[in-house]
Amino acid sequence: MIEVMNLIGGEFVTTSEVFDDISPIDNTIIASVPRTKSADSAVIAAETAALSWGNLSLIDRCKWLDRIADALEERIDEIAELESLDTGKPKKVALNVDARRSVNNFRFFANFGREMKDEIFVMKDATNYVIRKPIGIVGLISPWNLPLYLLSWKIAPALLMGNVVIAKPSEITPLTAYILGKICVDIGLPDGVLNILNGYGPEIGQKIVEHPKIKAISFTGGTETGRQVAATAAPLFKKLSLELGGKNASIVLDDADLEKTIPGVLRASFLNSGQICLCGSRILVHSSIYDSFISKYLEGLKDFEIGPVINNAHRDKVLSYIELAKSEGGEIIAGGNIIDRKGAWIEPTVITGLSHESRTATEEIFGPVVTIHKFDSDSEAISIANSTNYGLAGSVWSKSRGKSVAEKIESGMVWVNTWLHRDLRVPFGGVKDSGVGREGGMWSISFFSEAVNVCVMED
Ligand code: NAP
Repeated sequence: MIEVMNLIGGEFVTTSEVFDDISPIDNTIIASVPRTKSADSAVIAAETAALSWGNLSLIDRCKWLDRIADALEERIDEIAELESLDTGKPKKVALNVDARRSVNNFRFFANFGREMKDEIFVMKDATNYVIRKPIGIVGLISPWNLPLYLLSWKIAPALLMGNVVIAKPSEITPLTAYILGKICVDIGLPDGVLNILNGYGPEIGQKIVEHPKIKAISFTGGTETGRQVAATAAPLFKKLSLELGGKNASIVLDDADLEKTIPGVLRASFLNSGQICLCGSRILVHSSIYDSFISKYLEGLKDFEIGPVINNAHRDKVLSYIELAKSEGGEIIAGGNIIDRKGAWIEPTVITGLSHESRTATEEIFGPVVTIHKFDSDSEAISIANSTNYGLAGSVWSKSRGKSVAEKIESGMVWVNTWLHRDLRVPFGGVKDSGVGREGGMWSISFFSEAVNVCVMED
């Protein structure tokens, strides 16, 4: 049993009220978590730290990110173990996806900081240059599906640009953020530079978003929560980055190489039990290869290892979508049931025969459920792909026409003949109801800094 604590001004503290953290593997209680209701003491600690941290040179801050990366890497197995316990994902996924990427986020931004070029714009009679100042205190709020991976994706660039941080992990998965806090204290990161507050979203999450001294909010989570965050933060003129939900299409054209496509589309369907915002939960297949695709896809599914979903409440939500699919005329061709063991286990589920406009095929389920649809032409595939309110990601599988179809998909990211192949320099984010703004590389640097232009007239 772990006692998770808040990190405020370099001290680990708890609250009078705590709640349980439950592992979805077998529903055992694994930790107690503070139920924080105020951000005030973290804001005071952050304010005290802001000046000296913001005044450090960029290169010194890069060295701090390196130290965090090194210390995280030393404890990488423990991080994978705890992430697996907290989220239920297989240890292999927790190590190779979550833990490695968390280390890499700090390392990537340390290197990125060292390679940043001066931004200079020369006129005939004057020279402009850009200074990137820290914003001050930033609030970072993350979801439960990739806990440390997504929180570190925000913390690293925020610290790099001289900001001080108040981070809130999901109430459902607080363990690895707690370890990160411990690591930062162990390596001597100055007190108050990173503060971590645990608790419920509508309580402490809301307090962070509405606090007048927190000047920017980077939020990753569901679209409805994002709407609430935007409604609170926008009138306060905070900088706001919203990374929200998705209902992404995997588009399989008639000339796709099925030997390579099937494993790729399966991974996009069920990695992390389908609980990745980028997962391809709608599979669009050309009618001429539809039958052979389905039989190979179902064959491949037999070897796919998945964990439980995040908790029983989420399992029940996923099951309710399977019932909805049946009532909408869908045929369950694989899965559809609870797996009979303790914990939030559910079979990977494949549904055919639904209209692409059905609720099952247009609403985000965020679980191991995919719908498969037929199309007859590239233009029809594009139109189906673009027919939801979401616009986060997608993938196109084709030997010859991948790029031309990809460019017409209304989403922030599209892969061709691959999925989740990430280069951390590129823009990451969605359009439509999938979010506002981009993070990654220079986009994160821009978000986490105030760009100031200085224009110097020549003599
Ligand atoms: P969520 O319920 O929206 O929660 C996200 C975070 O916001 C959690 O830390 C949550 O705290 C907090 N929160 C809840 N209400 C809040 C409020 N009123 N003010 C401030 N913060 C609040 O999302 P989730 O269920 O954890 O995650 C799944 C969703 O995230 C899916 O829709 C998925 O697509 C999306 N997602 C998007 C991306 C992307 O990059 N676009 C990446 C991953 C996930 P509690 O946990 O304590 O409620």
